[in-house]
Amino acid sequence: MSEVPRQLRPEELRQWEAAIQEADRHNIFCRCRECDREWVSSKPEACQCGSKRVEHIACWQFPDG
Ligand SMILES: [Zn+2]
Repeated sequence: MSEVPRQLRPEELRQWEAAIQEADRHNIFCRCRECDREWVSSKPEACQCGSKRVEHIACWQFPDG
């Protein structure tokens, strides 16, 4: 039996890198405490669901895990 190695295909790697660069540019990761929506923004903002209970985390401040 052989195991399939878990590695990203070049295409997936490019998408991942693009996502990182996008986050870098905008800098603020937002997560709504009401509906759990997650998005990245250039500034702290309210959620599309209308909730202002949104967590704002600078991308370079991500906690471990
Ligand atoms: Zn929300």
